[in-house]
Amino acid sequence: MEEEPGPRGAVAFLGVRSCELHAIAIQDRVLLGGRHTDRDYAARRGEVFVIAVNCHEPGGTCFCVSMNTGPAVREGYDLVLSEILDGEHRILLEAGTPRGVEVLEELGGRAAEASDRAAGRSAVDGAADRMGRTVDAADLRDLLADNLEHPRWDEVAQRCLSCGNCTMVCPTCYCTSVEDVSDLTGGTAERWRSWESCFSLDHSHTHGGDVRASGRSRYRQWLTHKFGTWHDQFGTSGCVGCGRCVTWCPVGIDVTEELTAIRANSAAGDPETLIRGPAGEAGDDIR
Ligand code: SF4
Ligand code: SF4
Repeated sequence: MEEEPGPRGAVAFLGVRSCELHAIAIQDRVLLGGRHTDRDYAARRGEVFVIAVNCHEPGGTCFCVSMNTGPAVREGYDLVLSEILDGEHRILLEAGTPRGVEVLEELGGRAAEASDRAAGRSAVDGAADRMGRTVDAADLRDLLADNLEHPRWDEVAQRCLSCGNCTMVCPTCYCTSVEDVSDLTGGTAERWRSWESCFSLDHSHTHGGDVRASGRSRYRQWLTHKFGTWHDQFGTSGCVGCGRCVTWCPVGIDVTEELTAIRANSAAGDPETLIRGPAGEAGDDIR
């Protein structure tokens, strides 16, 4: 058997934002923290040098403040940059690891003064006040668990194309599929691992059929896993508030709007107004 060759040479991630550092930490937890370490991920992750950037200009779809993942970089970096534009254009560099200190010493430059640090803090504080989106993230796990039959799932399913764009751009989505391919002579066989999305029908296929056959059930799986059952599985939310899924949804579905709508008309604690799914979708509710 021939193993796939590992990565060659040193790798650096340049310009990593705080939300992305939180996403990397989640990927580490998922792919390295369990009983079964992902060998390929571990080989690529080990030596990565991370040059982070404190975010001073959030995008219109960002909500890292709501998810407590930014905009200030707090951990998980070798070097962090702050671009200061208060009359004198300068870059504040701070090291987070001994490797970062080594690079700083190579770069030279003057030592940072208290005024430089204060300017850096002020810029990142300003970004926190200009988030494009906000969402109430309190108790999302229970909110979603209590609202699995909320009518909003039907509304969003009318718009969702099941294209999978949201899962493709989400920095915490980690699902993959495995395919074995053999040639006609039977002399060689290859095993390929490919990206997979919970919006694809095959993702939940078991013998006897697709567990999540409707778009409604697939969207609900995406939202309830990312913001709800992820807590049970990994101890944190699966969302870091980067806003990419909002930016790249071709029909403008916005997770912050969906969560707000569910909270606004929650069925929790009111058995008199329990909301039922449409007739004929009972089997659809299996998660
Ligand atoms: S769910 Fe959306 S906002 Fe949250 S981490 Fe994934 S892409 Fe970013
Ligand atoms: S990107 Fe939008 S339309 Fe596509 S699967 Fe996600 S929510 Fe549905």
